[in-house]
Amino acid sequence: MIRIAVLYPDLLGTYGDGGNAQVLECRARWRGLEVAVAQVLAGDEVPDADLYLLGGGEDGPQARAADLLQRDRGLHRAVDRGATVFAVCAGYQILGHHFISSDGSATPGLGLLDVETVRTDERRAVGEVLAEVVARGWTAVPTLTGFENHGGRTRLGAGVEPLAHVEYGVGNGEDATEGAVAGNVVATYLHGPVLARNPGLADALLERVVGSPLAPLNDERIALLRDDRLALRP
Ligand code: GLN
Repeated sequence: MIRIAVLYPDLLGTYGDGGNAQVLECRARWRGLEVAVAQVLAGDEVPDADLYLLGGGEDGPQARAADLLQRDRGLHRAVDRGATVFAVCAGYQILGHHFISSDGSATPGLGLLDVETVRTDERRAVGEVLAEVVARGWTAVPTLTGFENHGGRTRLGAGVEPLAHVEYGVGNGEDATEGAVAGNVVATYLHGPVLARNPGLADALLERVVGSPLAPLNDERIALLRDDRLALRP
C-alpha cells in the first residue's frame, strides 16, 4: 500500500497542484498497486505516509502553512526516516531556510532543503517552462514542461542539487536552474499540474517509493500534449 499525504490543500491548493496526487494515484492503480491518498487540512496532524505532496499558494497562506508544519514536526520526522517529498512552488519555498511573506519580510521555512527564496527587482515569473533534468538519479526523466507563476527567486545552497536546467522560462531565477533535490526531497516551480504534463517524473517518484521499476503505460495521448509544449524549445 502506497500512502500519499497531500499537505494542506486548503492553503496550498491555489494552482491546481492537487492534480499531482490524482496522477500518482491513477498511475499506481493502473499497475495494480494499492494507494491511499489522505488530504491533510491545515491544523490536522501530519500523518505517517510514504510520499508527501505540497502545492503552490499565495504568500499569506504559504506563511501560515510553514508555521503549522514547523510546529507539527511530522514532515521533519518523515524526511528523517527517508519518506519521499514532492513540493511545488510555495511548497518548495517553504521547505527552504527562508522565503518572503506578503509584507515583504523574510519568513523562516522548515529548513528541509538547503535553499533560500528572496525577492529581487525582477518581474514576477509567469509563463511556460521547459527544463532538462540534471539531478543525479533523475536524468532518465524526459524534458520537464510546466507553467510557473511566482514572485520569489530561489538560491541553491551546497546541500542540494538543481532538479533541472532551464531551457525556456525562469525557474529558480538567477542561474538557469529549476527546482532542487536532496535525498528523497524533490521540489520544483512547475505547475500544470506538473505530474500530468510529465508522467516520467510521476513514475520516477512512484518508483522511489515502491523501490523497483514500474511497467510502462501507454502515454500516447500525453505525448501529443507534450509535443505541443516542447515546440516552445528555442
Ligand atoms: N507565493 C509564492 C511566490 O509568489 C509562491 C507562488 C506559487 O506557489 N505559485 O513566489
